[in-house]
Amino acid sequence: MENQATGISDISKPGGILYTTAMTDTELENTAPFWKTKTLRQMTDTEWESLCDGCGRCCLNKVEFEDTGEIVFTNIRCKMLDPVSCRCMDYENRQQHVPDCIRLTIEEVETLPWLPPPAATAS
Ligand code: SF4
Repeated sequence: MENQATGISDISKPGGILYTTAMTDTELENTAPFWKTKTLRQMTDTEWESLCDGCGRCCLNKVEFEDTGEIVFTNIRCKMLDPVSCRCMDYENRQQHVPDCIRLTIEEVETLPWLPPPAATAS
């Protein structure tokens, strides 16, 4: 589908006409942010990593009760979580500091019940 120039009366300019361009679906897709047009599985590693909004919940210690499977958040943070920025102090090398730090993959996102809602719903 080709662009179509559309004339719309512009009441803010006396006698003026505002011309706008109708965008094709492909053009809209190319200008929309990736998180609106891609599934988690379609994202690049960089796009995937950029989804983190810095809430810090992933980096709080949690307790899982063996008998019920219930997971409870504590207010104890990982030693590498900067309490001011709410970011990892050495994200690139985090597993050197915290060997059991989990690298969240799409597969894990689909199975970990403790992830914050925005990450869990961005499928
Ligand atoms: S090492 Fe960094 S990313 Fe991993 S849990 Fe700690 S603060 Fe979070």
